[in-house]
This record gives sequence, structure tokens and C-alpha cells, in this order.
Amino acid sequence: MNKIYIVGMGPGSEDALTPQAKNALTISDCIVGYNVYLDLLPDELKKKELISTPMKQEVRRCEIVYEEALKGKTVSIICSGDAGVYGMASLMYELKERYPDTTLEVIPGITAALSGAAVLGAPVNHDFCIISLSDLLTPWEKIEKRLRAASDGDFAIVLYNPSSHKRKDYLKRACEILLETIENDRPCGYVKNIGRDGQESGVMTLSELRDFEADMFTTVFIGNSESRIIDGALVTGRGYKIE
Ligand code: SAH
Repeated sequence: MNKIYIVGMGPGSEDALTPQAKNALTISDCIVGYNVYLDLLPDELKKKELISTPMKQEVRRCEIVYEEALKGKTVSIICSGDAGVYGMASLMYELKERYPDTTLEVIPGITAALSGAAVLGAPVNHDFCIISLSDLLTPWEKIEKRLRAASDGDFAIVLYNPSSHKRKDYLKRACEILLETIENDRPCGYVKNIGRDGQESGVMTLSELRDFEADMFTTVFIGNSESRIIDGALVTGRGYKIE
């Protein structure tokens, strides 16, 4: 009773919704989420009770999930990609002690770093890190420190939240920090609207990326020192010798 699923729905297309996620949503009485994600659900799941909450009201969204579950319903809260990657999974656990009579289960989803990587080729096939450029909850100084540490460690880098209405130049600022130590022609790529209408992708150099206008539905990839463009694909090798 009072079961809550915290569901990652993948990038957006129905075929990237895992059977495990689909099953959790199917057995739920009610699905809670940001309206953009509810709109992406398969039609049969849209017949459920849907509760949409605006962006930037994440705490309220999680409270609603608990309140609905305490009415005796099975409730799913949905996030794009994976719910434990800049999603609602941690906040749900942080609120849990206020709602002892509920049970949580996290259902994994395909995060944008992986669905986007597949579109570009194989850009994260060695040690890589994901850095969000959103400074809504993280001070920009810490983001800069992590960018420098990632380039120092020669990680392939995936950037989430490269831009928003209020933060148009953040990708440029991030690239300028990386260009302090990384060469201008380091292979990079982007994928926009992964698995959704209007999917678009491309490869470019790091200095070109500095002037690229990404939006909030774009994921950006920066290769490591071994990455190459092979037949139009962004590829980070693992070091295998080819005779
Ligand atoms: N939980 C999500 C990430 C949420 S943060 C996940 O695991 O994928 C939001 C950022 O994720 C966006 O700014 C963008 O950089 C990336 N993103 C999420 N879904 C995307 C999609 N379908 N296409 C491109 N980028 C996406």
C-alpha cells in the first residue's frame, strides 16, 4: 500500500521507455510530473489520473506524490532520462521521513548522456563525467572548478543544462574555461531533442562549440584527448590495438 515509483522515462520516445518503467506506470493509479513529460507518455497511460505541476516547484511536486499515495493510491512520479540524474529521486528520499507509511522504488531510465551518445557514435566509451551548467542550485564557482578538474583528468565530458532563457552564455563561458587547457580543435558534438520530434545533432570543434547556441533541450559532448571523428561519428576509443 501507498507505493510510490520514481520513474525515469528515458529521452522521450516510447521505444526508449523500458518495459520495467512502462510496467510501473501501468500499475499506477496516478502519474505526477512536469507537463512536458506527461505529454510524452504513450496514449494508453494518458488515460490515468495525471497531475501536472509546473517547473521550479519540485518540492511541491514531491509532496503531492506523497499526499496522493497516502490516499491509498499507487503513484508514479516521472522524470525524463533517469530520475537519479538531475531528477527527483534524491528529493523524494530527502522528504521520506515525513511520510513513514509509504514505500519508494526507483525505476531506472536511459539518461540523455547515453541516449545522446548513441546518436553521435561512441563519445563516452572511456572514463567520462557529466556536469550540469545550471547554477540554480549549484554556485557557478563550483561548476567552474568541476570543469577544470574534468579537463585536468582528461575525461570525456557531457554537459547538461547548457542554456536557458536566463543563462544564454553559459556554454560559451564553460568552453572558455575548457579552452584554457584543451586545444581549439578538440572534437565535440551536440544532440538536441533526443528521441523527440525535431531531433538534431552535429559534431564540431571546441572553439566552434564556444559560439554554438544550445537550448535547454540540448546535451553537449566534449571528447577526451583520444577522441576522433570517424565517418561523421564522435568516437572516444578504449585503446585497442588494431593490426
Ligand atoms: N534526468 C534527465 C536530466 C534532466 S536535466 C536525464 O537523465 O536525462 C535536463 C537536461 O538534460 C537538459 O538541459 C538537457 O541537457 C538534457 N536532456 C534531457 N532530456 C533530453 C533530450 N530528450 N534531448 C536532449 N537533451 C536532453
